[in-house]
Amino acid sequence: MGVEDQDMRVRWGLWVPNPGCHPRAAAPSSPVRGRPRARRPGPLAESARAAAPGCPPAGYAPVPASALGPPVNAEGYFVGQIHGDLYWVTDSAYQAMFLTTKDGVVIVDAPATIGHNLLRAINAVTQANGRPSKVTHQIYSHSHSDHIGASVIFGPDVVRIGHRECRTLLLRDDDPNRPAPTVTFQDRYTLTVGGQRLDLVYHGPNHTPDTIFVWAPEQQTLMLVDVFFPGWVPWKQLAVSQDIPDWIKAQDIAMSYPWQTLVAGHLGRLGTRADAEVQIAYVADLLAGARATVNTLDPTPFFKQNNAWAIYKAYLDAASAQIAAPVTEKYLGKLAAADVFTVDNAFTVFEFSVREDGGMQGPFGIHP
Ligand SMILES: [Zn+2]
Repeated sequence: MGVEDQDMRVRWGLWVPNPGCHPRAAAPSSPVRGRPRARRPGPLAESARAAAPGCPPAGYAPVPASALGPPVNAEGYFVGQIHGDLYWVTDSAYQAMFLTTKDGVVIVDAPATIGHNLLRAINAVTQANGRPSKVTHQIYSHSHSDHIGASVIFGPDVVRIGHRECRTLLLRDDDPNRPAPTVTFQDRYTLTVGGQRLDLVYHGPNHTPDTIFVWAPEQQTLMLVDVFFPGWVPWKQLAVSQDIPDWIKAQDIAMSYPWQTLVAGHLGRLGTRADAEVQIAYVADLLAGARATVNTLDPTPFFKQNNAWAIYKAYLDAASAQIAAPVTEKYLGKLAAADVFTVDNAFTVFEFSVREDGGMQGPFGIHP
C-alpha cells in the first residue's frame, strides 16, 4: 500500500480537529487544561501535525477536547461496545451501530466514509464474541447518501428495512449504492433477530420525511441521525433539515425515551443526555434571538437599492449575524464549532421557525 492509499484509509483520523494545531490551545485559559487528553492521534496524525499542512487554517476557535472521541486505528476506524451485544463504529466524522446475535448481525446505516471498515469492525467484534459475522439485516435511519451510501457492500441478500417514505425516496434516487428497503413500515416496526430486539419508530418528518428513531430497549440506546450533534453545534443550517419546527420538536421526542446512550450518526463520540440538553438550550437561544430580531431589526437601510433579492439578502444576513453573535459567544468552549456554523443555524431558525413556518414576518407582515 502506498503512502497515498494509507492516507485515504485514515483520512478522517488525519482530519480530526486537533487542539494542538491552534495557538490558543496552549494558552492557560484553554478549556482542555488540566484534563486528560480525550484523544491521542496516531503516528500519522502526529506527523501530519508536525508537517503543519495537517493543521487547519487559523481563524476558528480550538475544538474542546470534550467534543472529541477515541482515536481511530491504523485502518481509520474505531469500534466500541455500547452495552451487551450492541456496538458502534466511527471514523470520527460518521457513525453506524450494529447488533451481534446468534443468527447474524443487524446493522443500522452504512456511511460511505466508513465503507469497508464496517466489515472489518464487524469481523473484529464477532471473532472476539463468537457470533456469526454475516450481516442479515440492515436498517436505514433515513435515505441520505452520506449515511447509507455504503449499503451495497452487504450484498443483495441482506434484508433492508426502512420507513415507507425511505423506499419511495430511494426508488426515486435509483442509486446502486443505496438499494431501496424491501421491508417498510409506517408508524412502528419491531425487529427481532436471534432473540435480540430493536424498535423502529416513526414520529413524523423532521430532518427528512423518512427519518426514524431506532430504539434498543435492552441497551437503553437510541439511534437518531442528524438531529443531535453531541459536543458540537449542529451542522450547517441545522443539518440542512427539511422540516425545521419538527426537527426542533424531534429533540424533545427523543428526550421522552429513557435512553442513556445516543448514537447520533455524526462525529467521533457517543452522546449523553447532558449533550442533548446543551443542544436543546442552544437551539432555544437561537429561537429567542430570532423572535426578538424579527420585531426589532429595521430593514429600512437595506431598501436603498432597486434589487429585491439584494434587499432580502442584506436583511437576512444582518438578522442572522445579530441572532448569532451572543449565542456564539455563549457556547464557544462548550460546543465545538460554535463560531463555524452558528450564523448558518441562526438563518435557518429565523427563516423557517420564525418567518415562514412561524408566521412572524415583522417588517414584512401585512401592509398597514
Ligand atoms: Zn441526513
